[in-house]
Amino acid sequence: MALHFYNTLTRRVQDFEPLAEGKVGMYVCGPTVYNLAHIGNFRAYIFSDLLRRYLKYRGYEVFHVVNLTDVDDKTIRDSQAENIPLKDYTDRYKKAYFDDCDTLKIEPVEMYPAATDHIPDMVRTIERLTENGHTYVSDGSVYFKIDTFPSYGKFANLDVSGMRSGARILADEYEKEDARDFVLWKAWTPEDGPVFWETSLGKGRPGWHIECSSMSQKYLGETFDIHGGGVDLIFPHHQNEIAQAEGATGKPFVRYWIHCEHLLVEGQKMSKSAGNFYTLREILDKGYRPMEIRYILLATHYRQQLNFTFEGLKATRGALERLSDFVRNVRLADGQPAGEVLNKILGQRENEFVTSLDDDLNISPALGAVFNFVRDVGRLISDGKLAKDESSKVLDKLTAWNRVLGFMDFEEEALAEEEVARLIEKRTEAREKKNWAEADRLRKELEAQGILLEDRPKGTIWKRK
Ligand code: AMP
Ligand code: ZN
Repeated sequence: MALHFYNTLTRRVQDFEPLAEGKVGMYVCGPTVYNLAHIGNFRAYIFSDLLRRYLKYRGYEVFHVVNLTDVDDKTIRDSQAENIPLKDYTDRYKKAYFDDCDTLKIEPVEMYPAATDHIPDMVRTIERLTENGHTYVSDGSVYFKIDTFPSYGKFANLDVSGMRSGARILADEYEKEDARDFVLWKAWTPEDGPVFWETSLGKGRPGWHIECSSMSQKYLGETFDIHGGGVDLIFPHHQNEIAQAEGATGKPFVRYWIHCEHLLVEGQKMSKSAGNFYTLREILDKGYRPMEIRYILLATHYRQQLNFTFEGLKATRGALERLSDFVRNVRLADGQPAGEVLNKILGQRENEFVTSLDDDLNISPALGAVFNFVRDVGRLISDGKLAKDESSKVLDKLTAWNRVLGFMDFEEEALAEEEVARLIEKRTEAREKKNWAEADRLRKELEAQGILLEDRPKGTIWKRK
């Protein structure tokens, strides 16, 4: 069976067929840059990173756009509270976002449009909506009139037919109960201070929802393949994006909508407003490693809620160490050739890996394939049945899978190993000079890093605690 995903639009699993053969256009709602992202946000970003990496693994050329919301109610509110210009304020959190993505090995995408660089595009979309009869003006602000878009609500399974006509909402974020005409362009008010643009729509600023419709269509075309984000965005944000985009062009907007479930803390959505959140940096400061965080955020299927616990996070260390111990053993392997046996293992586990991820990114059996591979080849090695020139085949396979998973840090691992080898060599020299104190000091230094030494007749070997 081919690659297939659960599509929120149709509420069923569908084969994936992009508009242009071999190419995928994809848009994912990015951060509102008013604060450090929390690991709940990163669950959504790591999910889209997995999707992107897997599409590439399956041979697609991916053009992936992630927007940066650098003007909205929250960015304005918080920059003013700190009394610094909006741009300086949001630049700080844009940088933090990129740094954090880098730490978590989230691949850079092809384009990161910022809302403030696209005001004319948004104005143009609003003008088109007006030409098509979807808007009205109230107190200088422009609203989308939802009863001009008959399918409004359907995307979120929401019945809005009983709603009072003309009721409207000015806030960027609101709940389902507040479904009503939403704002496209907000007239300037004194609270906005220096944040405004003079446009054909008057002095003001765009609402939040319009930026995603305008920027996604600008870079991906009026109809494109995939749109993603967290499930909290289904309503109102994505419903509003659909109404705006389709209201302006009269064409279908997105073909596959893919939404990631929440990260929970003690049963509740991790969010800034609930105050139950951890930033990436807070967790790193507690001594956890970036790849442990990447692993835990990746290892639960994206359509299942993930309950975050520090016990769960601790448990990832064992899995990652199994992988790095394995890589080390493979690098050292020098046995008899495994030949066909190895080819069979490679073929079988690759097949499991791809079949699982083809199935709506079913990550658990894909990880199962990786660990079964580690077990199978590990057995060969301990039976002395992996030849030196076969190691590269094994490592190539892991490297290929890691292009999708991203949590195996081979380079860092190799560097760490070089460092261990260097210290062991120094210790051997000290022992040869009968400098026992120095040899002991080096043993302890390694032990403090979790490395245990064992002196054998042929030399010193090491393992992790
Ligand atoms: P925001 O900066 O709040 O606009 O959110 C950025 C992205 O993170 C969106 O795709 C949200 O759906 C997602 N997100 C926010 N909170 C969580 C959470 N607790 N679990 C998973 N994704 C989340
Ligand atoms: Zn968006």
